[in-house]
Amino acid sequence: RNFEGYKLSEEIRRALSVLKYETPTEVQQEVIPKALSNQDLVVKSQTGSGKTAAFGIPLCEMVEWEEKNPQALILTPTRELAVQVREDITNIGRFKRIKAMAVYGKEPFTKQKEELKQKTHVVVGTPGRVMDHIERGTLLLDQVKYLIIDEADEMLNMGFIDDVETIIKEIPTNRVTMVFSATLPKDVENLCHKYMKDPINIEI
Ligand code: AMP
Repeated sequence: RNFEGYKLSEEIRRALSVLKYETPTEVQQEVIPKALSNQDLVVKSQTGSGKTAAFGIPLCEMVEWEEKNPQALILTPTRELAVQVREDITNIGRFKRIKAMAVYGKEPFTKQKEELKQKTHVVVGTPGRVMDHIERGTLLLDQVKYLIIDEADEMLNMGFIDDVETIIKEIPTNRVTMVFSATLPKDVENLCHKYMKDPINIEI
């Protein structure tokens, strides 16, 4: 099995080849085709499974380069993960010149605000700082078509539930939502039930 079977553009294929991703991992085999057909997904999978590329590949494929405002929002529990995911997206989207940006606490707000004024396709961020940007009007979410909640169980364990819900409510309902989580406790399931459209459950 390789990536040839998926409807991916030349630019994305070339990036995968540079990254030496030859065979899709199990989670990628499950997620990529379904994400490309705009399905909401709840994915139970661990770090190390290749989950970042599982959402990163279809995301980079679907993002339209011409659009100036963010089309995808990825929420992560920590700054470290936000930075890592931003880097992975940048690598996958490099030949399409996808601009991904990370927003997180402990970095000057003004610097991020200036960067957000430029064309940005994908925003990766921690809930607290994403909220700050929404409240101060520096992050526009009305063009967001893809919402990814990464490590949802961790995020809720850290007490981000209210921020996460407030952020979700800012995003047009006409979107694709994907939730990734190592475990599926009740609060994660409730969140999925409340904000997703007939999600497919994938367990790796
Ligand atoms: P993740 O689970 O997203 O943290 O990914 C774990 C590691 O697997 C990362 O270092 C990725 O670069 C790598 N990886 C992801 N997908 C593939 C693939 N299809 N082939 C080889 N390595 C991969």
